Amino acid sequence: MTTLNETHDPALRSWVESANAADTEFPIQNLPLAVFRRRGSNEAFGGGVAIGEQIVDLTAAVARGVFGSDAARPAQAAAGDSLNPLMALGPAAWSALRQSLSRALREGASAQKLLEPCLVAQADAEYMLPARIGDYTDFYTGIHHATTVGKLFRPDNPLLPNYKWVPIGYHGRASSIVVSGTPVRRPLGQTKGSADTPRFGPSQRLDYELELGFLIGRGNPLGEPIPIEEAEQHLFGVALFNDWSARDIQPWEYVPLGPFLSKNFGSTLSPWVVTTEALAPFRAPLARPADDPDPLPYLNAAQDRAQGALDIELEVWLQTAAMREAGRAAVRLTRGNAREAAYWTPAQLIAHHSSGGCNLQPGDLFGSGTLSGPGPDQAGSLLELTQGGKQPITLPNGETRSFLADGDTLTLRGYCERAGARRIGFGVCSATVLPAPAVRV
Ligand code: CA
Repeated sequence: MTTLNETHDPALRSWVESANAADTEFPIQNLPLAVFRRRGSNEAFGGGVAIGEQIVDLTAAVARGVFGSDAARPAQAAAGDSLNPLMALGPAAWSALRQSLSRALREGASAQKLLEPCLVAQADAEYMLPARIGDYTDFYTGIHHATTVGKLFRPDNPLLPNYKWVPIGYHGRASSIVVSGTPVRRPLGQTKGSADTPRFGPSQRLDYELELGFLIGRGNPLGEPIPIEEAEQHLFGVALFNDWSARDIQPWEYVPLGPFLSKNFGSTLSPWVVTTEALAPFRAPLARPADDPDPLPYLNAAQDRAQGALDIELEVWLQTAAMREAGRAAVRLTRGNAREAAYWTPAQLIAHHSSGGCNLQPGDLFGSGTLSGPGPDQAGSLLELTQGGKQPITLPNGETRSFLADGDTLTLRGYCERAGARRIGFGVCSATVLPAPAVRV
């Protein structure tokens, strides 16, 4: 678990003035990474670090010799079109890069003159996914989500007996994960309600899932589990993740092998990865009811119980096409906190995933599962917010929604704030729903 160091000092200020604004998500204490280029250019994509409203172009900074000995190698590794080479270097290298950037961006830093020409305004940038994601695994750590959704299907027995023993997950699809800003097309699929035979057509119950994306740093050799005590050393960082879901396709197709096309038509990842080290001031105990079972030893470590959870505020915002046309801003649907929502920590997911011998690789992505809080206004999906579509929500302009409509723009936001620490944020994870392809008749 990362300890606090000079880079977390809440008093630090940057010579990049916008990083000192009280409401910035990217103060000098954050320093998240992305892969970007100037919008509309033919430049190669490369690694960048957010500072206020600017991005430090790492390729340019490396070329200008900004980084000293310890940080030169990780900076070079982050300069290409994916962060995988940096992820593979491990926590000492990540930390050296962070420390070097923190010192170079501070008020009064002698590196200011060298770095100033390396800044690109975020307003002028476009992004790629931060990593080449080899494998994507979707977990189900949101216990309130699991309970509420379970109630819709099994009122008497909402939470299955394995839930409090084993972190539930399944293998997802990496090819359809896209970076924030990329539209998501409504899927076609087979659905079967109470009819005798299924129909094929556009999903009528398209939903979002509010999740965190955990990006794996160093992997493990095949056959060699990662001990829970070492698991966080394999966690590079955290991003926002919308794991879009077709609620009408899933019930018909998922028996007996699990979700398939209802889950693999698109998932949206935010461009900025907030590093595990940046999150150090915002850790929390793993809170579980007193009469819940202790995790099995391979999922149980004192340090993880004490600080394994993430204290991240999460919000969901919706702007419909009609709102956009009328110039109305997005409306916040819900707000919750990952700490309250998740039953398992990232370290437990890493330890569990590798416990059978499966090898993780740099750039692998874990979805947390839908992070709904205990309250009805903290739902992480429309399925929960509208009680399976039975109670549509009414928006300020009078429109109603049971599930998402074409033209809806769904945006996730996240931030951490705590007394004694500088507030940091995750940027946005946003996408607009496009109509389904034409159906063959
Ligand atoms: Ca999911």
